[in-house]
Amino acid sequence: MPKYVFEFTEGGKDEKDLLGGKGANLAEMTRLGLPVPPGFTVTTEACRRYLVDGAVPPELRVQVTRALRALEDRIGRQLGDPEDPLLVSVRSGAKFSMPGMMETVLNVGLNDASVHGLTQISGDARFARDSYRRLIAMFGRTVLDIEGALFADAMDDLKKDRGITDDVDLTADDLDELIDSYKKIVQEQTGRPFPQHPREQLDLAMKAVFDSWNTERARLYRRRERIPNDLGTAVNVCTMVFGNLGGDSGTGVCFTRDPASGKQGHYGDYLPNAQGEDVVAGIRNTLTLDDMAERDPASARQLFGVMRRLETHYRDLCDIEFTVERGKLWMLQTRVGKRTAGAAFRIAAQLVDEQLITLDEALTRVTGEQLARLMFPQFDPAAEKKLLAKGLAASPGAAVGAAVFDSAVAVKRHAAGESVVLVRRETNPDDLEGMIAANGVLTSRGGKTSHAAVVARGMGRTCVCGAEAIDVDVRTRTARVGDVVINEGDVIAIDGTTGEVFLGDVPVVTSPVVDYLEHGLDATLAGADGGGNGAGLDEETADLVRAVDTILTHADAARRLRVRANADTADDAARARRLGAQGIGLCRTEHMFLGDRRVLIERLVLADSAEVRDAALEALVPLQRGDFVELFEAMDGLPVTVRLLDPPLHEFLPDRTELAVKVAVARERGEDTAHDDKLLAAVERLHESNPMLGLRGVRLGLTIPGLFAMQVRAAAEAAADRITAGGNPQVEIMVPLVGSVMELHLIRDQADTVLAEVAAQRGVRLDIPIGTMIELPRAALTAGRIAEAADFFSFGTNDLTQTAWGFSRDDVEAAFFAHYLDVGVFTVSPFETLDAIGVGRLVRIATEEGRAARPGLKIGVCGEHGGDPESVHFFHDVGLDYVSCSPFRVPVTRLEAGRAAIAEDDTAEGLAGPR
Ligand code: PEP
Ligand code: MG
Repeated sequence: MPKYVFEFTEGGKDEKDLLGGKGANLAEMTRLGLPVPPGFTVTTEACRRYLVDGAVPPELRVQVTRALRALEDRIGRQLGDPEDPLLVSVRSGAKFSMPGMMETVLNVGLNDASVHGLTQISGDARFARDSYRRLIAMFGRTVLDIEGALFADAMDDLKKDRGITDDVDLTADDLDELIDSYKKIVQEQTGRPFPQHPREQLDLAMKAVFDSWNTERARLYRRRERIPNDLGTAVNVCTMVFGNLGGDSGTGVCFTRDPASGKQGHYGDYLPNAQGEDVVAGIRNTLTLDDMAERDPASARQLFGVMRRLETHYRDLCDIEFTVERGKLWMLQTRVGKRTAGAAFRIAAQLVDEQLITLDEALTRVTGEQLARLMFPQFDPAAEKKLLAKGLAASPGAAVGAAVFDSAVAVKRHAAGESVVLVRRETNPDDLEGMIAANGVLTSRGGKTSHAAVVARGMGRTCVCGAEAIDVDVRTRTARVGDVVINEGDVIAIDGTTGEVFLGDVPVVTSPVVDYLEHGLDATLAGADGGGNGAGLDEETADLVRAVDTILTHADAARRLRVRANADTADDAARARRLGAQGIGLCRTEHMFLGDRRVLIERLVLADSAEVRDAALEALVPLQRGDFVELFEAMDGLPVTVRLLDPPLHEFLPDRTELAVKVAVARERGEDTAHDDKLLAAVERLHESNPMLGLRGVRLGLTIPGLFAMQVRAAAEAAADRITAGGNPQVEIMVPLVGSVMELHLIRDQADTVLAEVAAQRGVRLDIPIGTMIELPRAALTAGRIAEAADFFSFGTNDLTQTAWGFSRDDVEAAFFAHYLDVGVFTVSPFETLDAIGVGRLVRIATEEGRAARPGLKIGVCGEHGGDPESVHFFHDVGLDYVSCSPFRVPVTRLEAGRAAIAEDDTAEGLAGPR
């Protein structure tokens, strides 16, 4: 029989798959001897079984009974006992944390009888009633699916009737009345009374937690975070401890370092006399841990001790939930905490300095995506701004957009192409879609651990929360600060790094991390190039830049993949080089056929004799040569892969319909249309139903005599020019869309002739390898043959994805990818992250067969996947030599290539050990 239930004394932090994150860490803390209320965890396996069968496995009921009895015996109380009840919380806890996405029910075990027992043992009638009414409402909402507003309205009506505004002013008798109203709501809405039997409450709550795995918002969250749908959640059943037993009780959330900035020191929110979710919900504004230390020094001291112990144990930032019950500290949860990108780098570097982790480990604590976030622009410090309010800097970044007051409007306006900032009093899980659509999130209530802050940080969205000066009225869709009124659609700007909120647009400047990446550490720290304003950096920013430098330098030392850039112009190449590119992996030559040069292409297409055609090609040579000279100069000493023309020629000709209209109109007017007639005929001749699979790439090169030879000549002459000027060009010529080795042989013959000619004419030695793209399945499957004629391979994974799947890359993303993501055919678009088991298989085959035929064959990637972190790990594993990505992604890719190398070392260790 599978073991579905584990007591907290049985598991440990490495069992997240089975016990979920929360359960595994509760067990770990229990093992460490920290004060965790006793309890047990129902495994994710039980949930998966339930979701498949649609029913609770019978063995689970038995195992729950045994665990519950053991718990009761340990505590010496029974669940829901009328005299002295044991009460439990029932909380979800999946392998990956999904803040606010799933369900929790507190105070399970309370009923009409045990509420009196609770009154007796607590000596507090008000507290007991309050706990019971909370159970009915929470149970009603999450287990019985009753609209939460019904409970909230009943509470509001009662408060109005009593003439009070604060919940805490309701007396025990008031709460009794409220309990009756709540029970009536349950009866009316479900046709059944509120379940009185404690075990029934427990069973239903557990089922509700299982079911919450599949709510719409949980699915949406998982899709975004790329969490697989089939993991299921664990359920934690934990003895209740109470933070709402008066002034010497309370509940809080804390971090062992600041998760927003990464600064060292205690950090958290505390609410005296409160229960569970009050803190995270951001309903009341919270105290800091320093305030807590003043009010309750003994509990704070215990807490600080536990925080240090946990950080030493986990060797990372820990995020902790705790409750103080009448002066006694209880740990309710811990986990390695989510953090902003900047905090991730700073904390990793601090932990290295503190000798708690190694540099290799530091590299595993940051991601390329986080580095990419640090490269986003920031508000210009020198710009004029109208400061409206200041809140908490919850998630950094600079967001400007139209103020919107609800999730639906955010989604709508975003879909229409508008930038929006979502403004709410506080957010709840239903706001998730709006938060995704918005550039930034602003709330007037709640601390840095409120839902808005946690979720925004998780998704890298800019967020300012708790801006109390702003009075948000969601009904009228306005926000007021003093006499300033912000209406829906008014532009506001929020700075998630400082917590500032501005009225109107604010210009943005480059991030200091980009300054560092381009100009180096010393220049940036001195503020010479960096900072955008010539001033030195503030200490926090300087610390961040140093942390990025430490970790990226280590990634460079660790990585085996070289990183090149896709760049077509000297400017892009120079920038890529500053950002650390080790060459150009793809120079697309098509832009060299645009602008003024279109006429030459027209002439080429319309040529009715070899002389006219050659003249057109001849005229293109000096223009192309000029482009190449600049490019080779910018990348002097580093390889530059020049790809011969790829797109179909009609892309350089006028639009068919427009030209037809032009001809018709001209004819109507009696004008001479001879040239346009000829052009239109050519356009018609070249028209293709499916140009992506038509006359492009090497097919064009073989069909238009002299076209590729002209490009090779231009590149060779440019190389000769650079050599003569004392440079060191490292040119490589690449042939696109090859499917058969014969195509490559034919082009190679032409190219070799041209190269020999230019070398002889110019009296220089030209060492220019000729390679091919592997971007068709046939090329991948015949790579061994193709390698005979290729000096190198470069995977064009854009076309390889298109052709392996039969997806027209220009059409499918807009047409149906959203639906495919919804129904789970993909978790991510295969054009974004390489489809490792399909397209990746072709990459593996081609690499193995190419290298078998030609040992040491140099192989790279130049499709978009070269800049995608997950794909970079794949390319590392396959053993490629380099990846090429857009210039701005180069630092991200350097970091990920380093991370891939470290991860490989881990695997190697694992393989060397016992099996
Ligand atoms: C590719 O197909 O991956 C590639 C890099 O070429 P292009 O995107 O220019 O077709
Ligand atoms: Mg291609």
